[in-house]
Amino acid sequence: MKEQDFEEYENKCLEELMPLQDEFMKSYDIESYEDWFYDHGIGVFQFKSHRGENLYFKYIEVGSFSTNTNTWNWSWDNNSTPMRVRYGIEQIKEFGEANQFDKLTKGLFEGDEYTGWAMTAIANRLLGSIGSYRVPQDHLFIYFIFTKELNQGEYHTLKKNLILCDRHESGRIAFVCQHLIQNPRSGFHEAFESNPLFEPDDDYQAWCDECENIRMKEGEWNNASMAFANIKLVCNQCYFEIKARNQ
Ligand SMILES: [Zn+2]
Ligand SMILES: [Zn+2]
Repeated sequence: MKEQDFEEYENKCLEELMPLQDEFMKSYDIESYEDWFYDHGIGVFQFKSHRGENLYFKYIEVGSFSTNTNTWNWSWDNNSTPMRVRYGIEQIKEFGEANQFDKLTKGLFEGDEYTGWAMTAIANRLLGSIGSYRVPQDHLFIYFIFTKELNQGEYHTLKKNLILCDRHESGRIAFVCQHLIQNPRSGFHEAFESNPLFEPDDDYQAWCDECENIRMKEGEWNNASMAFANIKLVCNQCYFEIKARNQ
């Protein structure tokens, strides 16, 4: 695909992003909030004001621009970005592959001060957002798109369902039977199909073949089947590792 075609696409995306962004900044009066904070553990970006008001948004991290090296790094290529804050971001790469847009398929490439917003505009078009934001961090600018607003209650529920994990810092809580943790290849049954590309409404729950047999025999999750399963809490990144080991 010609360079020119990509530029055209990029410009179209920027033209879409700009009015959306104006509207976002205005309708939430974002500039009246003095502080911001983002929590990779639950994927929530918070704006705080000195008047005691808070705004909460679920976010996807698009990527970061380094002012040291003048390079853009997509979040799907960045191991320090937890999976849970880059749900769906690989769709951009797939779209790039389908259209031969090099900048969407390379994890890291050289750019300039406009690159971050241009890539964010593309993310907005492909994934949808209600607004976007960028924050400075050392020599980086990190770019986010916001997928939905959360109220205080929803925010606290997410916080409550956060689990601290030795290996992944913190993540959303998930439930597995004791056997899935202890033994590989134990079989894998889920309450609903998990997909790392989409954030689930409910917490993940899974159990092994043996637990499934007992559950079928008992006819439900009751004291006996629950005692056998001896459910453990893990983070949702551990959950997908356990799933891979046991299928
Ligand atoms: Zn089990
Ligand atoms: Zn973990």
